[in-house]
Amino acid sequence: MKVFDLHQDLLYYIIDNPNNVSILNEYKNLNIDKFVFAIFPFRGFYKILDVEEPLIYTLRGIEIAYEIEKEFNLKIIKGIEEFDEGNIILAVEGLYFVRSTYEVRIMNRLGIKVLGLVWNKDNLICPHWNSKNDYGLTDLGYDVVKTAISLNMTIDLSHASDRTFFNVIENFKQNIFVSHTGIREISNIKRNVSEDMIYEISKINGIVGIAFADIFLSKATLTDIAKYVSKLIEKYPNTLCIGSDFYGISQEHKIENLSKPNDLKNLYLELKKYLPDEYVNNFFYNNAYSFFKRALKFSDVKD
Ligand SMILES: [Zn+2]
Repeated sequence: MKVFDLHQDLLYYIIDNPNNVSILNEYKNLNIDKFVFAIFPFRGFYKILDVEEPLIYTLRGIEIAYEIEKEFNLKIIKGIEEFDEGNIILAVEGLYFVRSTYEVRIMNRLGIKVLGLVWNKDNLICPHWNSKNDYGLTDLGYDVVKTAISLNMTIDLSHASDRTFFNVIENFKQNIFVSHTGIREISNIKRNVSEDMIYEISKINGIVGIAFADIFLSKATLTDIAKYVSKLIEKYPNTLCIGSDFYGISQEHKIENLSKPNDLKNLYLELKKYLPDEYVNNFFYNNAYSFFKRALKFSDVKD
């Protein structure tokens, strides 16, 4: 079992309790070869959310990621040449400080390769999934996505509104993915993607990471999830991936036996009951690997 996890809120997990970072010592044994390290641009959560300084929090998050790289002997992937031996892909979860494409270029120089357009609060790029006013991808948003793709960055549509999702899919045909989501057919909220949306992503060689929490998958057990996800994997063998979100989920929303990196082997064994090894390995690793390899190499021919 080799794991490529499309979404880990590790920063959020360690920010109030730096000792939690020791979990990274286990990653090599757990065969977590690569993961996306999400930088949450706010401090606090919900009632105590500090929305004033997203740039500052993002910059601090980047610095913490580089400290982690040194301390735990992991490698941040900043380009295709570091991809095979690298482990960490840096992501920003919401572009709340972006006012022009300059900020995108700066983020790229700092090693960010995933731009999550939005979190659970509207911004100048696009509205979030539960917005009262779904205005879709803005003109600035369009420029930001275009610039990012030309710099071999990727665009994460998790948390984005439906209109944004389709605006992006229609206008851009590469480097687009959804890092952590559930499935509307199981848990019918707009935070999740529908099977039709998975189909749309598959058509542009994108990927979709499945997150493990009851808000994403309803009150399903590990066995229910394996059964349902295995059917989806059969339909989309090159699209679905792990996007665990293990550290972004509060205790009451966790799924029993599927709430921490060490539990991924439970899912692995369960899926192998329903699927050939090749499909299970695609889901755990190969699909994400191929997507990022393509994205980091992509070259846009310009006139
Ligand atoms: Zn999230």
